[in-house]
Amino acid sequence: MGRGFRIGRLFGIEIAIHPSWLVIFALVTWSVATSWFNVEPWSTTTIWVVSVAAALLLFVSVLIHELAHSLVARAQGIPVRSITLFLLGGVSTIESEATSPGREALMAGAGPASSLAIGIACALAGLAVHTPTIARGMLIYLGYINLLLAVFNMLPGFPLDGSRVLRAILWAITHDFLKATRWAARTGHVFGYLLIVAGVFFVFRQRDLIGGVWFGFIGFMVVQSSQAAYQQSRTESRLAHVPVRDLMSLPATWIPGDITLRKAANDYFLALKAHCLPVQDDYGNLEGLICLSDLQRTDQRSWGVDQVQDAMTAVDRLHTVAPDEPAAAALHRLATTDIDQLAVVQDGRLVGFVDRAGVLAYLQAGGRTGGRATPSGAGL
Ligand SMILES: [Zn+2]
Repeated sequence: MGRGFRIGRLFGIEIAIHPSWLVIFALVTWSVATSWFNVEPWSTTTIWVVSVAAALLLFVSVLIHELAHSLVARAQGIPVRSITLFLLGGVSTIESEATSPGREALMAGAGPASSLAIGIACALAGLAVHTPTIARGMLIYLGYINLLLAVFNMLPGFPLDGSRVLRAILWAITHDFLKATRWAARTGHVFGYLLIVAGVFFVFRQRDLIGGVWFGFIGFMVVQSSQAAYQQSRTESRLAHVPVRDLMSLPATWIPGDITLRKAANDYFLALKAHCLPVQDDYGNLEGLICLSDLQRTDQRSWGVDQVQDAMTAVDRLHTVAPDEPAAAALHRLATTDIDQLAVVQDGRLVGFVDRAGVLAYLQAGGRTGGRATPSGAGL
């Protein structure tokens, strides 16, 4: 899932919209205007204006749902980077797993619980209004849509919240997070296929093409995500007792921050065929990391003037791991953030890199590579 357009920050969390969300926005507006609000005694213009407002409020509802997850995560000390709204709802980029079944259940359940609360409140408020006003129509719509959000997200298939609640329950029973993940993933797998079957049923027996395609699509997504969760859990259990140092690649050399980008390109990146290099001061303190992609982002005409420290990722913005941390944690962080490599840092010094290619190479070698001393940090 790409980053999408940034639209602002809420409670220090970056909020973004994925382009696919615009499709849903148009689809929701169209569908509420032609069916849901079409029965109201309003003018055509009013119906469309109310429908656009309804689609925007759906967006707010999904955002509140995601914020509930994120704020509970943060209350547990888990950093939350961003929330991206996309085709099927939202994703919060939460950087690690909960530390206990209770916390996991709380974090996963917070979203549906907030949708349920808003849904009940809006529905009751709407039903309390007896005249067919716009406010009544909107409140009942919001009640319906939030209740739907709560129910849909509680379905037991990854990546939906229900699968995480199920995993938390299995985790509490088995005391084994990875085993619980695999069981929840298997359940999700079966459930995804049931959704696909339901989709086929809707198309052929109910003659409901859109409903059927929608069910089939969600089912397909649930099957895919559950499979991915199963695979990742298997990989993580293989890496649970392997320290990061065993599969990190070593930096070819370090680079000073005060040389020009042209010198960096010629004397370091080209000469060493490096992809990423640590930027250090004369005392060996890590100042940041500069990669080929950072150079490519800058205008070549200013390479004679701009320095490495202008283009690097500063140390405080770097994603880091310690060499003694389990490789499974590093892999998880790579999977939940959209960065290519983690810097392995010990006592303020960069001692290596971990990337997906390195983890993969380690697994393919049957876990015997041990400290890849490739000069360029292979695969970065
Ligand atoms: Zn959720």
